[in-house]
Amino acid sequence: MTDSDGEDPERRRLVIAGTGIAGLTAAIYAARAGNDPLVLEGVEPGGQLTLTTDVANYPGFPEGISGPDLIERMETQAENFGAETRHSVVESVVPGEEESDPHRIEFAAGEAVLADAFIAASGASARTLNVPGEDDLMGYGVSTCATCDGAFFRDQELLVVGGGDAAMEEAHFLTKFASTVHIAHRREEFRAEAYWIDEIERKVEAGEVELMRNTELAAIEGTPEGGIDGVRLLYHPEGHPTDKRDDPSTEEFDFDIDGVFLAIGHTPNTNYFEGTGIETDDAGYVETEGGRGGGRTRTGVPGIFAAGDVVDFHYQQAITAGGMGCQAAMDADSYLDSLARTTETEPAAAASDD
Ligand SMILES: Cc1cc2nc3c(=O)[nH]c(=O)nc-3n(C[C@H](O)[C@H](O)[C@H](O)COP(=O)(O)OP(=O)(O)OC[C@H]3O[C@@H](n4cnc5c(N)ncnc54)[C@H](O)[C@@H]3O)c2cc1C
Repeated sequence: MTDSDGEDPERRRLVIAGTGIAGLTAAIYAARAGNDPLVLEGVEPGGQLTLTTDVANYPGFPEGISGPDLIERMETQAENFGAETRHSVVESVVPGEEESDPHRIEFAAGEAVLADAFIAASGASARTLNVPGEDDLMGYGVSTCATCDGAFFRDQELLVVGGGDAAMEEAHFLTKFASTVHIAHRREEFRAEAYWIDEIERKVEAGEVELMRNTELAAIEGTPEGGIDGVRLLYHPEGHPTDKRDDPSTEEFDFDIDGVFLAIGHTPNTNYFEGTGIETDDAGYVETEGGRGGGRTRTGVPGIFAAGDVVDFHYQQAITAGGMGCQAAMDADSYLDSLARTTETEPAAAASDD
């Protein structure tokens, strides 16, 4: 199939979608294995780690390292081994018809490449609220990851926004550091499992957590230099106060807080797999083979692999995403080797069929 400009698409051994930590780790391993990877940046070059100023838990950096610095080092390492990075966004993937046919990777800008193997390392985006102050203060007092940033807030007052399992788990974790964790949830009832609600109620009784039901975050105040000064909250006795802002029962008030953790879920970036037959769970995370031994990052389509937060809805850490990126590159390498062997033996097999 030719491109819209009539040219044959470029053919690559391996294409990797994503330059987050999973994609770059895959690129380092793939380039060293001689698989000449083309690595696509997507709309967020460097991925989620570029949103954080301080990564304190990545092994090997006892003084911590900034997210962008870590990513830049990994990108240089991948490029030193021969990986090629390109600023393209994958729009759709058309799997090859036969097992030995390449997959067609189509870009949002219109062009396409053919790839013998493809690794989806397109991550998951933390959902945000789009309230004033949120963008400017992300990484400067606003976070979407308690495991990553909680320890920066010792003995401080924290606000967790959300009402599901993730919010309860994050709030529970943050009690290790915070003087008080306030949980703001837009409804009366929490959506979390009974286990987490019991755990949080125990923390409420111990005075470590305070619940703010029917309450929503309206704005975050502060500066990147000075951090968060406070937040503006909305309350309505029947919930969803933002939708009822003009209702006389809605109260709007300022609240002193030092840090805000948004825990309203993640959206995996997997739209481009629609119609490919690649399985995802209800939330959109890619289903891979998993288990023990090799091949854990295989999807149901031969030659297509997935790694990092695009698969892993649970751990979602730099080190785990990187680990899976390494696995995907090794799985892709085994696949490309077996593909080469099949192609080499095909004429002989065809001859013996006569
Ligand atoms: C604020 C914040 C702080 C964090 N701090 C830490 C920390 O201190 N320690 C820690 O271990 N973890 C931390 N994390 C978690 C960590 O960043 C993630 O677990 C990790 O980045 C996941 O890596 P990934 O490569 O799977 O995905 P991502 O980092 O999400 O990267 C995804 C990549 O895929 C690209 N992409 C998306 N869609 C497409 C497409 N259609 N086509 C092509 N490319 C596409 C994106 O542009 C991006 O380059 C933090 C997360 C956040 C949000």
